[in-house]
Amino acid sequence: MVKKIAFSLIVFFSTSIQRVFSWGFWAHPRINRMAVFCLPEGMFAFYKVNIEFLTRHAVKPDERRYAVDFEAPRHYIDLDHYGSLPFKDFPRKWEDAVKKYSEDTLMAYGIVPWHVQREYYRLVKAFKNKDLENILKISAEIGHYIADAHVPLHTSENYNGQLTGQRGIHGFWESRLPELFGENYDYFIGQAYYIKNPLEEIWKVVIESHSALDSVLGFERELTKQFPEDVKYGYENRNNVLVRTYSQSFAKAYHEKLAGQVERRLCLSIWRVSSFWYSAWVDAGQPNLDEFASQKIEINEERFDKILKNFIDREAHLIPILEQFWGCCHGEAPNYAFYLDRIQKAHFWEKPYVLIESLLFTQSFQEKQHCVYQANRNYKKQQH
Ligand SMILES: [Zn+2]
Repeated sequence: MVKKIAFSLIVFFSTSIQRVFSWGFWAHPRINRMAVFCLPEGMFAFYKVNIEFLTRHAVKPDERRYAVDFEAPRHYIDLDHYGSLPFKDFPRKWEDAVKKYSEDTLMAYGIVPWHVQREYYRLVKAFKNKDLENILKISAEIGHYIADAHVPLHTSENYNGQLTGQRGIHGFWESRLPELFGENYDYFIGQAYYIKNPLEEIWKVVIESHSALDSVLGFERELTKQFPEDVKYGYENRNNVLVRTYSQSFAKAYHEKLAGQVERRLCLSIWRVSSFWYSAWVDAGQPNLDEFASQKIEINEERFDKILKNFIDREAHLIPILEQFWGCCHGEAPNYAFYLDRIQKAHFWEKPYVLIESLLFTQSFQEKQHCVYQANRNYKKQQH
């Protein structure tokens, strides 16, 4: 028993060291799912038919986080690193912020507002091209980032209470509380609204989140004074592992003290996700999606995986590296030519990395296929 508890402590503390947080596997899928029901006619039917895809892919960005470095900063922004509310002097535009703080600094402290902006314009483009696969993929993923921006602890350097002796509070607020109480929330949410300026809007969201940070940390601190350690924490069996976690009674007291804060942020996430989707559709000229209303999009991941698998079979020595990146092969980005060029110029030792990066960032299945082919050919050339 003693051994078991020691192991559990490791589980508890090790998950709180890495910065791989978000609303979690309970809330993210629900946020995307419920956002569909706020959409107006003209969009609703197509999104409804593909609701399972949007639900399933809501956690893709978090899965990628475990595998690639560049993913993590897209999920947060440590506003308090730069100053304090209302952050009047913080440049909202990426170029201005780079000028003031340097790109390295911005990457180190998180880029969620700018990443949402970038994904937004990709979504507009996908609507304009009636590119159904990308409409769904980008909608699912932007939904994730917008939802993350609603979490107060995604806007602070003290993101897990590690600077104030409150380690573990991140997952407590955004995963455990919704898991315990989310079924009883009132999800009566209005219709999606039009967002004139997506960058301003997402900045509004992160500032709102940051304003809520005081109560997130303060209430936990106050309650901790009233709860002895052995009442504050308890042990729960999760997948046959005994995990040390906040007790039900502490969670209930904290949730009550927050007076609906988690519910409000969750509902706002749903409303905003849907509004960003809707606005991108409007900005693209409201393409008629009803003509695809019965079209359930099958994304060719299996076919793609098979090709990659063939490639790996031939290049067995790359397996460990490729496996490490396996979970992250479904991302999208526009600059295919750039990555093709990089693959061609890459040194042998960095080829697998460039290959995977290019797979992540190419737009369509055909492009991915071509990428694998090119990388393979170049690799062979270098061998001779
Ligand atoms: Zn996230």
